[in-house]
Amino acid sequence: LNRRLAEFGTTIFAEMSALATRTGSINLGQGFPDTDGPEEIREAAVRALREGHGNQYPPGPGVPELRTAIAEHQLRRYGLEYDPDSEVLVTAGATEAIAAALLALVEPGDEVVALEPYYDSYAACIAMAGGTRVPVTLRPHDGAFALDLDELRAAVTERTRLILLNTPHNPTGTVLSRAELTAIAELAQERDLLVVTDEVYEHLVFDGAEHVPIASLPGMRERTVTIGSAGKTYSFTGWKVGWITATPELTGAVRSAKQFLTYVSSGPFQYAVAEALRLPDAYTDGLRAELQAKRDLLSEGLAAAGFGVHRPAGTYFVTTDIRPLGETDGFAFCRALPERAGVVAIPNAVFYDHREEGAPFVRFAFCKRVDVLQEAVDRLKGLA
Ligand code: PMP
Ligand code: GLN
Repeated sequence: LNRRLAEFGTTIFAEMSALATRTGSINLGQGFPDTDGPEEIREAAVRALREGHGNQYPPGPGVPELRTAIAEHQLRRYGLEYDPDSEVLVTAGATEAIAAALLALVEPGDEVVALEPYYDSYAACIAMAGGTRVPVTLRPHDGAFALDLDELRAAVTERTRLILLNTPHNPTGTVLSRAELTAIAELAQERDLLVVTDEVYEHLVFDGAEHVPIASLPGMRERTVTIGSAGKTYSFTGWKVGWITATPELTGAVRSAKQFLTYVSSGPFQYAVAEALRLPDAYTDGLRAELQAKRDLLSEGLAAAGFGVHRPAGTYFVTTDIRPLGETDGFAFCRALPERAGVVAIPNAVFYDHREEGAPFVRFAFCKRVDVLQEAVDRLKGLA
């Protein structure tokens, strides 16, 4: 293994899902729903397979039906106009979009500012691109993990190439506000930076919170690569259909990298996701309401079990503080949890460069059936 990748072992998700299987524990670690997405969208995939749509290599940028549906979605939801031919690129999940964007836009030695804790593939992809990550830590403040804008400003140097954003944010559940995003947008323009923004949880926001794509703020469309995914919005994480929207120049750059990673992927699923993107807004409203109720069930159960709970404004995840349980090391806690309670969770420290900052935090996923969450909560009650 080369030096760029040596620091990254097996991803925590593989390790913890294997632990769940091995111990027969309830898996609240890796974020995937245990109920599949809409029946009619599964049927659309079957139809595409049967009718021979996408069984051979689809076009490199993605099938036109899907690119058009993505452009229509950005316009309908956010008033953002993208040309399906030159400004939309379909990828193998958001994971490939992140990799291709960083490989295409980062020069060796460039600095990439990212919010810490960060989704694990960011660090590995910045490393593969030869870049240097500069983490800006979100810290607990008034029950949520908050961004310190002064720290963000101070993190930008002459070598900074781009800011890598994630909102709604995994693992903390923070949803960046319009005011915060406006400040980030001003900084990006002042310092002439690109923004790559991972918005895979765009529709999973709670309590009336608003998801604001930074590309929709003045002056940002031309310097932003926005990343989306069907995995979370439609509960098909295994289909691996993601996308970017950006100017022709930025889309072309990302496409240059993407063509040598997978070239294309997910043929028949692309047609099905095109249909999913055209579902009425009632679909995402329903999903959001369902997830909010699950967030509440798990958050309340965790609080009753003695955890400190940071109630998330979005995503699949609730971050807890284990110090009220008399624990300080999230890694050790998560490794012991299957034995102690038959539940698997993720130690947030894996998402930090400043490991000590993340040590007491543990992430639980609530994208699971109500009976599963209830059983997990019952099991965790015995911990205190
Ligand atoms: N970004 C974030 C923040 C995620 O949480 C995930 C996966 N859970 C991804 C990207 C990857 O998305 P995909 O499955 O579409 O590759
Ligand atoms: N994004 C999911 C999570 O945070 C997992 C995706 C993966 O397994 N790479 O749990």
